[in-house]
Amino acid sequence: MTTLPAPGSSPRTRVRRLAENAVTDRDHAYAILDAGLVAHVAVITDGQPFVVPVGYARRGDEVIIHGSSASRLFKTLATGTPTCLTVTLLDGLVLARSLFESSMNYRTVMVLGTPRLVTGEEEIAALLDLSESLMPGRTADARHPLPQELKATITLALPLDEISVKVSEGPPEDVPEDLVDPIYSRIWAGYVPIVESFGAPVADDLAADIPVPAYVTSWRR
Ligand SMILES: Cc1cc2nc3c(=O)[nH]c(=O)nc-3n(C[C@H](O)[C@H](O)[C@H](O)COP(=O)(O)OP(=O)(O)OC[C@H]3O[C@@H](n4cnc5c(N)ncnc54)[C@H](O)[C@@H]3O)c2cc1C
Repeated sequence: MTTLPAPGSSPRTRVRRLAENAVTDRDHAYAILDAGLVAHVAVITDGQPFVVPVGYARRGDEVIIHGSSASRLFKTLATGTPTCLTVTLLDGLVLARSLFESSMNYRTVMVLGTPRLVTGEEEIAALLDLSESLMPGRTADARHPLPQELKATITLALPLDEISVKVSEGPPEDVPEDLVDPIYSRIWAGYVPIVESFGAPVADDLAADIPVPAYVTSWRR
């Protein structure tokens, strides 16, 4: 049982637009984070904002990200710079009777905070957790990082203390006038789900005669 504040409970994470879509349940937030693969992470350099997509994993009450020691994003954040990390799961296109009310179904988590540099044994454990989260079963199979590979890597942990969650689901919400309008009420409306799925694994040349591991064929998300 976490003692961390509920999502959306700080002034700057309170969802304002379509506040009814805000979720205050931390378990729900973690389920969204655990279902995603890619986060968008912000950094400002010389007054220019950059938003960079990276792989991530939740590790307890933190999100782990990693990148090259030469990366601008990671070098900057490693100095204790605040950031904003967002994870978006796109669930569908919502077709309302008006273009104005048409939208998307989604689940989003936004995290505000300052990452901490993860080093030593903790870095190795965090990187293995990251790999295992992105590619379940792989850490028991693939070679683990060498000292020089760790040196070339910056690993960061962003605390999940200050987060917000917004979820949009279901059919469109048309304006009442369109629902009774003789023309607009006869327009098809609803939503089209978008489902992320894994395709069939494709071996590289060297692995052509090696059976695909069971942990790969069993991947579902
Ligand atoms: C799905 C996905 C997962 C990724 N996972 C990771 C990860 O876990 N760790 C990691 O380090 N990197 C990851 N990357 C790559 C990451 O987005 C950056 O390209 C990388 O971190 C570059 O870092 P940098 O600081 O050297 O680049 P910068 O010096 O910041 O980049 C210089 C310029 O290159 C352009 N640029 C950089 N990256 C991108 C991009 N992705 N798309 C378009 N233009 C770009 C921008 O114009 C930028 O200003 C991932 C990318 C994708 C799409």
